[in-house]
Amino acid sequence: MTDFTRMSATELVALMARGEASSADIVTAHLDRIHHVEPTIHAFLHVADKALEQAGEVDRRRAAGETLPATAGLPFAVKDVLCTTDMPTTAGSKILEGYYPPYDATVVTKCRAAGLISLGKTNMDEFAMGSSTEHSGYGPTANPWDATRTPGGSGGGSAAAVAACEAPIALGSDTGGSIRQPSAFTGTVGFKPTYGGVSRYGVIALASSLDQVGPVARTVTDAALLQDIIAGHDPHDSTSIPTPWPSMVDAAVAAARNPSVKGLKVGRIKQLDTDGFQPSVRQRYHETLEMLSAEGAEIIDIDAPHFDYAVSAYYLILPAEASSNLAKFDSVRFGLRVTPEGGDATVEDVMAATREAGFGDEVKRRIILGTYALSAGYYDAYYGSAQKVRTLIQQDFTSAFRKVDVLATPAAPHTAFRLGEQLDDPLAMYANDMTTIPANLAGVPGLALPMGLDPENGLPIGLQLMAPAHGDRRLFEVGAAMEIFVNAAFGGPVWSRVPEVAAGGAK
Ligand code: GLN
Repeated sequence: MTDFTRMSATELVALMARGEASSADIVTAHLDRIHHVEPTIHAFLHVADKALEQAGEVDRRRAAGETLPATAGLPFAVKDVLCTTDMPTTAGSKILEGYYPPYDATVVTKCRAAGLISLGKTNMDEFAMGSSTEHSGYGPTANPWDATRTPGGSGGGSAAAVAACEAPIALGSDTGGSIRQPSAFTGTVGFKPTYGGVSRYGVIALASSLDQVGPVARTVTDAALLQDIIAGHDPHDSTSIPTPWPSMVDAAVAAARNPSVKGLKVGRIKQLDTDGFQPSVRQRYHETLEMLSAEGAEIIDIDAPHFDYAVSAYYLILPAEASSNLAKFDSVRFGLRVTPEGGDATVEDVMAATREAGFGDEVKRRIILGTYALSAGYYDAYYGSAQKVRTLIQQDFTSAFRKVDVLATPAAPHTAFRLGEQLDDPLAMYANDMTTIPANLAGVPGLALPMGLDPENGLPIGLQLMAPAHGDRRLFEVGAAMEIFVNAAFGGPVWSRVPEVAAGGAK
């Protein structure tokens, strides 16, 4: 029997177009799968209760001869950082428990217009702060490859849902790596667009100068399919790029049909190929570069001296922006309100009690750090210096892209670590982001895709490709070709080798 949950979004769209599958059948298969694996994986914070009804509606309209978008009836999952009027939106925080926003995020509106059917909201680190999903106020998500390990973060829920075949595609958000690092840990494909490429309207802001929404999928072409739906100008977001984007799907499909990296200049960044990385990750990365070189690509060494300071600069800029963005959770306008006992509480007492009860430790840590970095007398020394480093990192990218077409790095310094392993060590947790943060600081696009499994521990290893700002299409082109070479070299598509997830508990 056809298992719709093991098919790509592209295949599902083709099946519906040929009348060989109904949306109701496809959605039912995914809801059954969710029901089966969620006790182990916990990728979802909320499963939609209207999905099947909406699928039936698409089927009826299609049967009646209405012209619907090709993607109508295709299920997807939504990271809980995105506002949805029909489902609770918590950003993984207790302070927003049960909160229903009054409007949809623009990306959600665009997905609705494309006829996509939401299966639910996925788990994440609270307010997208973290690299393991363990900072969620609602319990961690497990990695489908090994339920004792983290799927990464902050978007571990979306990545795990896609890896465990609970959804063919999902939306994530990436401020410092929250799409790409979970993709590396789960063997999925994740894309962070050029800053401004996708609307931030209705995204619960973490750091507004870094946040971008992007797709998670099991293939490069599927990621392109979702990217085409969400990309584009939005007058509600002042940082949104006004020029239209070319089709990413067309680029990916054409490249996959005739894969070639001949003459492609690929940069190897010295600072992101170091002894600090897990040896098996580094080895696979080198094997990948050798394989690309054998296919005709030119590998060029790049020195990006300021990348060494990227994590430090990010962990000043991000808390500074986050402390300001999170000030709105004040017990007056949104969600939770905790009133201290005694009857004589002031507004400040209520705010303090609410924020004390509603925010987790990592969020409090960053609010304190950010407030400190922005305070009079320290602003220049911390926030000001970090912004200067950010400019230097942007200049490193500019000079690198004078020499190469794309930069290739490991997508994460190591494979998925065990749940609990880094929870008490914030600096180790922050170091997860060293490969992904530079792209956010410079606003350039980044694509994570698998480069096979680690021969030592059997876990997925991620490759990251970066292109200049506005070079999103180039990444899908190069990514789709590389996906074919990498799969051929390292044992076939990674996603198809995910072990069967045991229902009802860790395996
Ligand atoms: N690990 C990063 C952080 O904790 C990821 C942030 C993100 O991309 N949302 O800040």
